[in-house]
Amino acid sequence: MINTEIAIIGGGPAGMCAALAAAEQGAHVILMDRESKPGGQLVKQTHRFFGSEKEHAGTRGINIASMLEKAIGKYTNIEVKTKTTVLAIYDDGLIAIEERDRYKKVKGKKTIIATGASEKMIPFPNNDLPGIYGAGAVQTLMNQYGVVPGNKVLMVGAGNIGLIVSYQLMQAGIRVEAIIDAAPGVGGYFVHASKIRRMGVPILTSHTIKEALGTDFVEGAIICQLDNNWQQVPGTEKELAVDTICLAVGLSPLTDLLRHCSCLMKYIPQLGGYVPIRDEHMETTSHGIYVAGDASGVEEASSAMVEGKIAGLSAAESLGYSQNIQALRQECLDDLKSLRAGVTGLKIREGLELLAV
Ligand SMILES: Cc1cc2nc3c(=O)[nH]c(=O)nc-3n(C[C@H](O)[C@H](O)[C@H](O)COP(=O)(O)OP(=O)(O)OC[C@H]3O[C@@H](n4cnc5c(N)ncnc54)[C@H](O)[C@@H]3O)c2cc1C
Repeated sequence: MINTEIAIIGGGPAGMCAALAAAEQGAHVILMDRESKPGGQLVKQTHRFFGSEKEHAGTRGINIASMLEKAIGKYTNIEVKTKTTVLAIYDDGLIAIEERDRYKKVKGKKTIIATGASEKMIPFPNNDLPGIYGAGAVQTLMNQYGVVPGNKVLMVGAGNIGLIVSYQLMQAGIRVEAIIDAAPGVGGYFVHASKIRRMGVPILTSHTIKEALGTDFVEGAIICQLDNNWQQVPGTEKELAVDTICLAVGLSPLTDLLRHCSCLMKYIPQLGGYVPIRDEHMETTSHGIYVAGDASGVEEASSAMVEGKIAGLSAAESLGYSQNIQALRQECLDDLKSLRAGVTGLKIREGLELLAV
């Protein structure tokens, strides 16, 4: 049995910041991630980040991951376990892990779950053909393994992820035939959309994919227009000759391990689906189980980092550590408030309000 004060599951920006905040207080932390390197989504993000300046906006995601990893390396009270998948959490808080092909048990006095999110898929005929990818998978292929997914791409989804991945595809020499989105407007930042439009790629709003064409792999796609009631408009079908269809249609919080701990969950579409009910300290309804980042509701890396700090500070505080914790947490809560301000934060604010009801 491996014992620790705080067990953190997920080494993305939320988990890494949780580890740093708790270790700074003096707590012993084990940070576990199934990948061979910590960083979560950041390790494949070669673009300069949007978000908060305090959380490294303007820096490339991959560099933010390196900075956080370097900071973690300075703490002897943080043990990082990579290639370690958490399989289950039992009623008594025991964590079952598979670390490099060996099954082991970890027991933390407190546990922080920061497992991130998974990509959503949408139903349409032939959506299981080889050549249909999630946008995150395309980023992994290109930016981590240097492999392009195809030559001609249809991007489904004009949120920030769809726009950024389209741009990265073009940087890799791939032709993006079109970006379509079912919504009547572009969901991503206009700065990204303008860059794409300047490169001659049409962004078709109120459009959906009707069907993927091909037998053994993608050979084309049929798209069509949607009316005000989101219904397909007959006669507007258009065939695109593409070999890759990339879906950037949203993310769902990865909450399986939270359910293992019997955390109460609520369905909040604005936060991406089922999310755990938690308090301001990011503690769930299961005592001693904290949550942070996309697992608590899909947002951005900046807020994931701040939530991680709050969870790390709060878990450390509950163990008796107390170096200026209240002031540090208040600073984080203020940061979250400003990250979620304005029009761009409206959806998240609405979601959080529903969660509190
Ligand atoms: C294409 C794309 C572009 C983006 N661009 C931006 C941007 O410019 N600015 C911005 O602020 N945000 C951006 N984001 C969003 C941002 O990346 C996420 O909000 C952020 O990474 C969430 O952090 P996290 O730590 O909660 O989760 P993740 O980064 O997803 O990390 C979760 C970690 O948990 C690990 N894990 C999951 N389950 C287990 C398990 N059972 N056992 C062990 N490990 C596990 C995973 O391997 C992963 O490393 C982008 C996202 C995408 C997909």
